[in-house]
Amino acid sequence: MCLAGGEFVGHRGDSRRAPYNPTVAVRVRFAPSPTGELHVGGARTALFNWLWARKEGGTFVLRIEDTDLARSETRYTQGIMDALSWLGLSWDELFYQSQRLPHYRRYVDRLLEEGKAYPCFCTPEELAERRKRALARGEAPEYDGHCRDLSQKDRQLYLAQGRKPAIRFLVPEEAKETSFVDFLRGEVHFRRLTTGDFVIQKADGTPTYNLACVVDDHEMGVTHVLRAEDHISNTPKQIWLYQALGWEPPAFGHLSIILGPDRKKLSKRHGATSVEALREEGYLPEAVVNHLALLGWSPDSGEEVFTLEELVDAFSLEKINLSPQVFDFEKLRWLNRKHLARLSPRELLKRARPFLARYSGVPEDRLAAALELLRPGLSTLGELADHPDLRYLLAPPELPPEAVEELSPPEARAALARVLSRLGPGFSPEGLRPLVREVAAELGVPTRGVFHPLRLALTGRTHGPELVGIVGVLGVAEVRARLEAALRAVEEAQGGK
Ligand code: GLU
Ligand code: ZN
Repeated sequence: MCLAGGEFVGHRGDSRRAPYNPTVAVRVRFAPSPTGELHVGGARTALFNWLWARKEGGTFVLRIEDTDLARSETRYTQGIMDALSWLGLSWDELFYQSQRLPHYRRYVDRLLEEGKAYPCFCTPEELAERRKRALARGEAPEYDGHCRDLSQKDRQLYLAQGRKPAIRFLVPEEAKETSFVDFLRGEVHFRRLTTGDFVIQKADGTPTYNLACVVDDHEMGVTHVLRAEDHISNTPKQIWLYQALGWEPPAFGHLSIILGPDRKKLSKRHGATSVEALREEGYLPEAVVNHLALLGWSPDSGEEVFTLEELVDAFSLEKINLSPQVFDFEKLRWLNRKHLARLSPRELLKRARPFLARYSGVPEDRLAAALELLRPGLSTLGELADHPDLRYLLAPPELPPEAVEELSPPEARAALARVLSRLGPGFSPEGLRPLVREVAAELGVPTRGVFHPLRLALTGRTHGPELVGIVGVLGVAEVRARLEAALRAVEEAQGGK
């Protein structure tokens, strides 16, 4: 693969995959920046690293990259951890970069001493101005090396003016044509990487991403860096830092990007794109994990429905596919239905609880029975919150005037009254059909002429799940009470005329 200025320009004929070394215990990491919720792209990276570590009996490190003090927030750190836990992705070790600032300092100082880095006194305004001019001249808008060769005297002068320097890494021009071997993609070549001397420590003394990442991956013994494609152009910079510090770099592999259904970069526009939002919409973690796993990985068997445990068994790096992957909400809903179908009744109730707040007083077995009845039609648990069928299953319906009117003709009333008179305490839902047939025959109407008024009286609606199922959830006492209430409502309406 060949890249120019960080942009993909094509594959090289000789690209080979560099296999990872299976004799080395795998230590991988997920390194989110807590500047927002856990996005599905990040979650996919976390999942693939986790699966790999679990598969190989390796170690999965969680590293919170929170050195950008202005943009990082502890609530996001907490949210990311909650989201990972919810998905079932447990970490073996946890680090916060904000607690490791002296480590980064030490290595920046070493690079300064060795002349591999230098202080830059340019202000953001000066940099912006020069970038604009470079663009106007048709040149690459990268740092122009202004402070590279400042004399000791110039530096003193700037310091005396109260300027606080950033520290830049010195990139030799000839280093910019570079390549590395990606363990998923083979050789990745850059004709000329568009980067000037890049900042490794900001003027406030905090490290930048590339420096902190290298120091940590080294000190934490990370053997393989598996992350998304958008970091490909950071990789040479990181490799230069390893070289400058005299360290062996880890192996790097980059996963494909994730697109929305319209094949544009996935964004909020497409719908819920954070794990937290998907959770709130009532997707099961099993379904989210399952869909994430299929974003760039597929087994030979063609199978698509997996639990996390099954994924650990089935996962392999060889089956990773590098074409852009579409986050497909339809597919996610389909997977969610598959995983909903696998839950035990108890587990279904447990998962549904957060969406049933408005039914807090309803007895447990009634809830469980209602969920069983609705389960086949559910795509997400979020649908329960306003589910029209759930309402009358859990509380008697208010009969709308149209329903009362439809129940007013003598045949309808007779149907209800006859069914009611034959509902003894020993009645079981399987008895409903024969009973309806019997009453229909007596009244000389089609069975629909009995089923329909029954449904109206019991649910207040004209459509819904099979009546036998509804009667099963309600139980005979409740069915009787609703039939009586419906007959009373009809009587009252007629009395009022
Ligand atoms: N904090 C970086 C990010 O969230 C980590 C990238 C990496 O894995 O090196 O994009
Ligand atoms: Zn400068």
